[in-house]
Amino acid sequence: MQNLAQRLDLIAPSPTLALDAKAKALKAEGRDIINFGIGEPDFNTPAHIGEAAIKAIKDGFTRYTPADGTVELKEAVCEKFRVDNGLEYKPSQIVVSNGGKHSLYNIFLCLFQPGDEVILPCPSWVSYAPMLVLAGATPVLVRTSAANGYTITAEELEKAITPRTRGIIINSPSNPTGMAYGHDRLKELAAVILKNKLWVVTDDIYEKIVFDGFKFANLPMLEPALYDQTVIAHGLAKTYAMTGWRIGFLAGPEKVARGAAKIQSQTTSNPCSISQKAGVAALTGPQDTVTEMVASFKRRRDLTLSLLAEIPNVTCPVPQGAFYVFPDVSAYFGKKDGNTVLNTSDELAAYLLEKAEAAIVPGTGFGDDKTLRVSYAVSDEDIKRGLGRVKEALLALK
Ligand code: GLU
Repeated sequence: MQNLAQRLDLIAPSPTLALDAKAKALKAEGRDIINFGIGEPDFNTPAHIGEAAIKAIKDGFTRYTPADGTVELKEAVCEKFRVDNGLEYKPSQIVVSNGGKHSLYNIFLCLFQPGDEVILPCPSWVSYAPMLVLAGATPVLVRTSAANGYTITAEELEKAITPRTRGIIINSPSNPTGMAYGHDRLKELAAVILKNKLWVVTDDIYEKIVFDGFKFANLPMLEPALYDQTVIAHGLAKTYAMTGWRIGFLAGPEKVARGAAKIQSQTTSNPCSISQKAGVAALTGPQDTVTEMVASFKRRRDLTLSLLAEIPNVTCPVPQGAFYVFPDVSAYFGKKDGNTVLNTSDELAAYLLEKAEAAIVPGTGFGDDKTLRVSYAVSDEDIKRGLGRVKEALLALK
């Protein structure tokens, strides 16, 4: 048989999606799996958003739209950035895509090419590095520490920069750690980024899911000089429980947006017309469901942290946002399940799936081998049951 393209060998399947598929398959077999794996709100999409989609179908709004999104949705996105972030964009600086992931991939294709290095503070979400590699760029992983709130410092950034560095990716609040960048840290980074003329890709998908009065900011909000070298990746999935609708968007300099629009016009055409109508309803409609959802996440974060604190030798920083915690479980490495020694977070996660029927993503996919990512976007009841079983399973190791 003929060979496939070599680029397929450069990446592996997404471990978050792979674990989700496995958890769902085990559930379908009748196992009582509690899914802490996938990063997906467990709430239904608010009713008024669904109704806008039904209306779109009834009105026959089911044909091609402009490839980069409808003017109506792009204007709603501009208004979001004006109101939430104090950032002014014109619709020509916006591209609506098939989810935040698609926006990110378009951005990487526009900004980076073979020979370019892109700094990726890690642990980082599983898909940044593979998407950069597909774009031909080289991700440069810079390890951050729990002690520093899993944020990169100006000094660490400065050290990682070479003549080939073209950009940096910031994701705050972060998937997988839930930690968010404070304003002082961002301002320190801004000075280094400006001096070195780097592109900033800021993935703000968890912007609205913040707790304890944390004030979200991204780099161009704090340092307006960065506006011309920043591209924001964002989307509706997390804020409005709209993961399946696939609406992401980017905002940035017009030349980047037009570049992404060009790529999109040749590859995917427009994101779903019906989802775009739903997106307008999400952005312009009542926001009380967002407030309620965030309050639930905050309660579940606290519950999750208190249950993890009951497990001996598991440590975990307190995240300011998103719906993940990222506990260090390395104290359990080297312990035995029967005759099998568990040495890595992959092995520990596999053991917990089997023994505790808890699906949890190992830290390795995020570039950290001592941790697990627990998504607490599950009911309070399941958090209690699931983490109770996790504790029992960890304590059963010898
Ligand atoms: N961002 C979510 C997660 O990390 C969705 C799955 C994915 O695209 O990775 O679980």
